[in-house]
Order: sequence, then structure tokens, then C-alpha cells
Amino acid sequence: MTQVKESLINFRGYKSKQVPYKIRLNANEGKNILLEDIIREGLQFNEEINLNFYPDNDATLLKAEISKYIGVSPANIVVGNGSSEMIELIIKTYVDKNETILSVVPTFSMYAVFSQIYSTKFVGVESNEDFSIDIEKLIDKANEINPKVIILCNPNNPTGNLLPTRDIKKLLENTNSLVVIDEAYMEFASGSMVEEISNYENLIVLRTLSKAFGLAGIRVGYLLANQKIVNIIDQVRSPYNLNVMSQWIATKALKNKERVIAYIEEIKLGREFLYNKLKENGMKVFKSHGNFLLFYSNIDNLGQKLAEKGILIRSFANELAGYYRVSVGDKSENQAFIKAIEEITKNEKGKN
Ligand SMILES: *Cc1c(COP(=O)(O)O)cnc(C)c1O
Repeated sequence: MTQVKESLINFRGYKSKQVPYKIRLNANEGKNILLEDIIREGLQFNEEINLNFYPDNDATLLKAEISKYIGVSPANIVVGNGSSEMIELIIKTYVDKNETILSVVPTFSMYAVFSQIYSTKFVGVESNEDFSIDIEKLIDKANEINPKVIILCNPNNPTGNLLPTRDIKKLLENTNSLVVIDEAYMEFASGSMVEEISNYENLIVLRTLSKAFGLAGIRVGYLLANQKIVNIIDQVRSPYNLNVMSQWIATKALKNKERVIAYIEEIKLGREFLYNKLKENGMKVFKSHGNFLLFYSNIDNLGQKLAEKGILIRSFANELAGYYRVSVGDKSENQAFIKAIEEITKNEKGKN
């Protein structure tokens, strides 16, 4: 049989299994807050959506709405199938075989996955004990290995750590590498680099509708950078990459900014609630700037025990064994999660 290319011989891609659940807090997806509005508007197949025609390759209407939302000109935007496609496009465009991508560990697993697919080298600088990032250490590493791209998730998934803008600026001023800031969760924090794209020729910012907008199902993300970067990436991108329906839904969704802002506030309150309750129940919880919390528990197979109660959270292995990431849900989901944690904790105490 034909052998796959060398970089993929022991490859393990991103896996996402469908398992039964009552409450799903394992993928930071958020609530479908915009669906009602979108259904009310109704998909107007006859006029606004022509399924027989290819989509608008320039996503003109969508970029106009993104532009209003984020305050950047449409000429500085590339859109695609989630920020995942943007990450892949950046590697495709800029990183040759055997060149290096620098990031931190732990972080979003897809950076290393794409790196392997494209036969590039992935180097991760270790975070501090509390999962904060030592920017000097990162700059030193960058100067030592001269990576083609440095990619940082801010706030970081799965740790929730926020890198201050002054640290990112320091990095930009001390490297020639392309610096990519993945701001998938920035709506839940503050400290975006979006307004800096015209000040740094080597800066790319990534955003998505998958988290704060609760629209992971339509797969829409976007990239913000200066025109030079946008022009080349836009030519590398597959034609018509973003389908008609997703362009339409995303355009409508972005008009409902107020609803999203209210949702973000709800999530921040929920995050506070979960932080305190997890702590009360003896977990080691890390301060988070995203719509999720990372915590450590010495209860064996906590993820499995929660799954048996119908609640899914994210478990980790290897260096992060015993760590868990829970997405902030709505009030009743958060309460059900904490109730389950309390039951499990009580049961564990009974064992000793
Ligand atoms: C969820 C997430 C994304 C979003 O991916 P999409 O492809 O836009 O759904 C991007 N980066 C990080 C770090 C994430 O956690």
C-alpha cells in the first residue's frame, strides 16, 4: 500500500468523539444565543442565498460586518472555516519544511498538529509553574532558534493565562519572526492586539465566532493583519473557502453584538462562581481570562466520574495528568456541574 509522507508515519490527528451527555462543558463552545434571532430572520434561499452559485469569494458582506465589529478595514481581513483554517493557512504560506514554529506549552494542540502535517519543527517553551509565561525566556529562545513563526494563544487555552500587551509588544520588538496572536477567547478578557496590526509589520491576530458568539457549528474565523500579509494569505487560501450559509449566518450574527456583550458578562459571572466553588471543593484552580477554567484534582478519573453523570469536561494526559478544563456554561449547567463535583468529592472522602 502507498505509504503516507514521512512526517505522518506516527501521526495522531485531532480527535473529537461523539459521546452521550446531558451537559457539555468540554469544548468551550458557548451557548447558541444568536440562533433565535437567526431563525426569526429566516434563511432567504431565493434572494440572499443562492446555493447553485459559488459563494462570494471576497465575503464582502461578512467582512463589512467584521470590520464594524472589530474596527479594522475589510482590506485587513481574511475569513475562513474557523481560526483553524487561518492557522493552517499561515503555516502553508510562511513555514517551509524543516523551518521552526515557536510557541509555549501547554497550549492549543492544533499548532503542533499542523506543524507536523507540514513537516515543520515545533518548539514549545515551558510555562511557569502557575502557567504564566516568562516573556524574556520566550524572546531568548526566539533569538536562539530564529523561528519562522511564533504563535501564542492569548488568553491561553487550556490555562486561561493572559499575556499582557506590553509583553507581546516587547516580543514583537525583539524578533523578526512572524508573531501570531490567537485571540479566540479575547472577548472574555481585555488586552487585544487588534489595533496594533498597523504598527507592526510582523503581527497577525486571529479571531473566531466559535466562542463568544456561540457559533462553533458554522465554522467561521478570521485573520487580521497588514495588507501585505493579507494579500499573500488570501491568494494561498482555497477559492470559495467559506460557504454561502456560513457567510450569511455570520453576517447576521455580527449585527447582534449587544446580545453577545450581555452573554460575555454572564460568562464572566459564571467563571467567578465556578472558580470559587471548585476551590471550596478542594481543587487547585487557576485564574482564567477565557470562558473556561483549568483546575487540578487528585481524584482518580474525575473526568470519567463526571461523564457517568452525563457531564463532559476536558481531561488531560501526560504532563497535565490530573488537570481538567471545564467550560463555563449557563447558570443551570454550572450548578449541575458543581453539584456533581460535590457528590463525587463526598463519595471520595467516604472511601478513606
Ligand atoms: C477554540 C479555539 C479556536 C477556534 O477554532 P475555530 O476553528 O475558530 O473553531 C482557535 N484557537 C484556540 C486556541 C481555540 O481554543
